[in-house]
Amino acid sequence: SRAQMYTKENRTNITFDDVAGAEEAKSEVREIVEFLKNPGRFQRIGGRIPRGVLLNGPPGCGKTLLAKAIAGEAEVPFFSISGSDFVEMFVGVGASRVRDLFKQARENSPCIIFLDEIDAVGRRRGSGMGGGHDEREQTLNAILVEMDGFATDEGLIIVAATNRPDVLDPALLRPGRFDREVTIDLPDYEGRFAILEVHLKKVQHEQDVSVGVLARSTPGYSGADLAAIVNEAAIMAVLDKREQVSLEDLEEARDKVRYGRQKISRTME
Ligand code: ATP
Repeated sequence: SRAQMYTKENRTNITFDDVAGAEEAKSEVREIVEFLKNPGRFQRIGGRIPRGVLLNGPPGCGKTLLAKAIAGEAEVPFFSISGSDFVEMFVGVGASRVRDLFKQARENSPCIIFLDEIDAVGRRRGSGMGGGHDEREQTLNAILVEMDGFATDEGLIIVAATNRPDVLDPALLRPGRFDREVTIDLPDYEGRFAILEVHLKKVQHEQDVSVGVLARSTPGYSGADLAAIVNEAAIMAVLDKREQVSLEDLEEARDKVRYGRQKISRTME
């Protein structure tokens, strides 16, 4: 169908165990998993479950991962679309894509709709962005209309992600829309330790690899950066024709990833 062409529907195996070190965020979305498993039960008891959850936090800290884990834990489908997909679309296309997405999701509920980079379409309206503005506004309006248009017992939860909650149109944050905010910040030492452990489990590494040393020497690294360290280190070991990743590989990869991040932040200045 047309809707299928536009959206990605996934059954995901990702669970809360894959999202390391974000204990508070996980506990905040646990009731949503329970709701998705049995929407009717909540309806009968009369508990008020949000329609929309806003995940807020810096890039690469597991917002997408957490959204997928909600779907995986509840064993429901995951539909996703990114705000940046709407950039440079012809007027009206974004809005009709939003309607298609919601239609498809409602036919497959209970399920999760994930709107990544919601700020790309959800910026405060009338903020004088100039050209292309109409399209964005129509897309945002379509999201608002769709969110108002389903009953909570349909078992649809809309999860949106942003690292700029401050620029969002207040209409998105009104009761009945994204009125629940869950923050996933850069991981602290414990968080980094847990994330490194999750990713190190996926590779062969030497016994004496110290997760503590790595976690201590990576303040400011995101989950994505830490995953990249392990991946880079594994590539180094393979190129070096070794069977196992060593601590030296990981330290070299750490510095490489750090250098990459500095380059990126310089080009953004
Ligand atoms: P962006 O805003 O850039 O989309 P995000 O917050 O959605 O970032 P993810 O896409 O979820 O970040 O994370 C990217 C990758 O980094 C994940 O696929 C995973 O490999 C790793 N990662 C990030 N956070 C965690 C975490 N808490 N535990 C384990 N892995 C993580």
